[in-house]
Amino acid sequence: MSNRYTKEQLYHIMSSIHSKDTKPELLVRRFLWNSGFRYRLNHKQLPGKPDIVLRRYKTCVFVNGCFWHGHEGCDSFRMPKTNTDFWQKKIIKNRQRDILVQRKLASMGWHTITIWECELKSQRRDETLRSLVYTLNHIFLENYSVKRYAVLGDAESSMVAEDVNEYC
Ligand SMILES: [Zn+2]
Repeated sequence: MSNRYTKEQLYHIMSSIHSKDTKPELLVRRFLWNSGFRYRLNHKQLPGKPDIVLRRYKTCVFVNGCFWHGHEGCDSFRMPKTNTDFWQKKIIKNRQRDILVQRKLASMGWHTITIWECELKSQRRDETLRSLVYTLNHIFLENYSVKRYAVLGDAESSMVAEDVNEYC
């Protein structure tokens, strides 16, 4: 495998992909904030510097541009007719990187939610944001219930032990 980019070039490519304050990302942020969610931005210690980090929900939200991140089956994503090979390689690399980042985050106990730019177009925006809130609440309840089940489990096993004694 040949590496055609210098470190500097790669840095520029990556930073343009992860350019801050892109409009779709702002839209999601504003919505979350107005809905009462609190978050951190571009958390540097986490893999992939997630766009939005909701600690309370152990969730990272990525707002992905359909072209740069190669949104499969998307109307907004069309491979350019010139330099196709170049773009294809670049996009494949980004996609692989996204998968790696998600795996790393998952291994650290983080959930990831990906919102695609095309899902934020006016006709789909409400539905996307509504399902974002739904997913976050679901994750929160699940995280919470894991803790509760652990406590219940302990109480249950001691109750069983008592029952056994009674029947002996
Ligand atoms: Zn898309």
